[in-house]
Amino acid sequence: MLVYLSTSLRFTVFFTTFLLGLIMGSFLNCVAMRVLSGESVVKGRSHCMSCGHRLGALDLIPLLSWLLLRGKCRYCGSKISARYPISELVLGTVYVLILAKYDLTLRALELIVLCSILLCITLCDLDKHIIPDRFIVIGIINRIIFILISGNIFEELKLSLIGAFSVSLPLLVLSLILDKILKKDTMGGGDIKLFFMAGMYFAWSVNFLVLFMSAIIGIFFGLLSKKNEKNQIPFGPAISIGYFFGMLVGSELISLYLGLF
Ligand SMILES: [Zn+2]
Repeated sequence: MLVYLSTSLRFTVFFTTFLLGLIMGSFLNCVAMRVLSGESVVKGRSHCMSCGHRLGALDLIPLLSWLLLRGKCRYCGSKISARYPISELVLGTVYVLILAKYDLTLRALELIVLCSILLCITLCDLDKHIIPDRFIVIGIINRIIFILISGNIFEELKLSLIGAFSVSLPLLVLSLILDKILKKDTMGGGDIKLFFMAGMYFAWSVNFLVLFMSAIIGIFFGLLSKKNEKNQIPFGPAISIGYFFGMLVGSELISLYLGLF
């Protein structure tokens, strides 16, 4: 559909999508933080995490506020983490890439919601090493909504269930066996639930590719964060990045690979 638009209109669509990603990134940072701290997601104005001062409209402009305030709170001067502008920028870019690949389709919208959920999961896992169940549930509900409006409910549901179990089930069995042998928790239950939820959105082949990619990314993260006190590898972000690449180039990589034989 986008190819039929004039260049200026297409630019407008992409730019608006990017801005929407920035705004959502800013909002989801706040959501992730509130979920972790147990605050209500909908009630209460945003406030500085150090001094508690209420933030005005000027402090809440995605990207720009952080840049103009040079990463410091306007009221108490304490540092504001660069994770805010970075995740806003990342989500804006992610939205644009999904739109470029999937055009103005329902699938694009579905994946944009999935990526927004993956951002929340990434932020929570980086911060507290947990993947809150409510994000898994929202991801499952989102997929079910799009299955219901797909017009091909039975086929979509079948593909979704195969995708959901393709990686999560083998991982669950493997982790139960390893737990028995090593007598400790080997794999986070959150990671397995994440593979179940995000797995619903893709074919089993893409899921296996994502497992492979996220293992490599996770090990890379592990090497980078060796100083981390608990010595846990944050696999949530690795899996999220894996699924992002899966949706952008997954099927292309798989046909390229199959073409080798
Ligand atoms: Zn402050």
